Amino acid sequence: MSWYLVRPDALTIFKDEKVLRSLNRYFKVFRDKLPAKFSIAKKIEAVFDESYSLDELWALHDKLTVEYYRVESMVNRGETSLEDLGEPKRSYLDLKVEIARRLLKSCVFCERRCRVNRLESKLGYCRCGYTFLLSSAFHHLGEEPELVPSGTVFSLGCNLTCLHCQNWTISQQMEPGEPTTSEELAEIVTRLKREGCRNCNMVGGSPTPWLHVWLEAFKYVKVNIPTVWNSNSYYSVETAKLLKGFIDVYLLDYKYGRDECAVKISNAPNYVEVCSRNHLIALESGELIIRVLLLPNHIECCGKPILKWIRDNIGEWVRVNIMDQYRPHWRADEVPELRRRLTHAEYIEALEYAKSIGLSNLA
Ligand code: SF4
Repeated sequence: MSWYLVRPDALTIFKDEKVLRSLNRYFKVFRDKLPAKFSIAKKIEAVFDESYSLDELWALHDKLTVEYYRVESMVNRGETSLEDLGEPKRSYLDLKVEIARRLLKSCVFCERRCRVNRLESKLGYCRCGYTFLLSSAFHHLGEEPELVPSGTVFSLGCNLTCLHCQNWTISQQMEPGEPTTSEELAEIVTRLKREGCRNCNMVGGSPTPWLHVWLEAFKYVKVNIPTVWNSNSYYSVETAKLLKGFIDVYLLDYKYGRDECAVKISNAPNYVEVCSRNHLIALESGELIIRVLLLPNHIECCGKPILKWIRDNIGEWVRVNIMDQYRPHWRADEVPELRRRLTHAEYIEALEYAKSIGLSNLA
């Protein structure tokens, strides 16, 4: 069955002015009117070698990030094109791959900052080693309409432990997963694009522990496909910097409005500060869709404060998906209020609140 019979809203979304405005560049990339960010990153020359220290690599990265956005804005305005930019021996994307590889020696990809040497297969909190473990890759029809059909790649492992996780067999690595190289991952992404997917949706678990593989895979991707970073938002500043000039759309969860809730349910200390920081960095780095999964009895402490933060700090225009599909999966019964589903009244209360404070671009 064709996807548009299942999700006709994925076609009618093109008439929605607010969505077209908030995801303007994304729509142009998947219609091949502009190149994805990773394609531009490949064209920015980076002069470095293995003798460079990590500090020196970061200094070069900071400089080239400024250069990247200068070039991207020229590309966006039609003042230059990929063909005009040449083929550097080493690129800004190669530099990101090298920095990610160095970070693996003392992993700080996410806010847990375990500092284990994953190049020697030492495991941190997420229990992800060096080799990417693939769960599945397919045309996802359940995402926001602008993303459908989404070329979704599920990897094993996660840096959070959400007790209600609906993908817990993946996030907690209850299945073996298929070891996958960056070249093989590139082939999967290419196939998904050729089969008609609108984007490459990196998800898990969490894509964060596999940042090094994702960056390297796109060295081998030759098709034009927007990248979507589908994340719990609990990643480090270092990761946020490496995602600049690589990720087209940040699809970020905003899970909790209070750290007590984040610690109790996801074992995520300092979540609110990390999550809000990463939303603000995403806003200046690419385009943004925010997901707010409402949890039972967490409307006052989490749902409403999150929505207010979004309105105050991002803007009324931003795309927000207020999600009502909570189900008590995995170990949810360990938290009394999570043993039941969200009520319709709780959902309507959050939805009406969002509208009352001016949020108008709701998925
Ligand atoms: S990705 Fe996060 S949880 Fe996993 S080893 Fe690195 S710092 Fe630790």
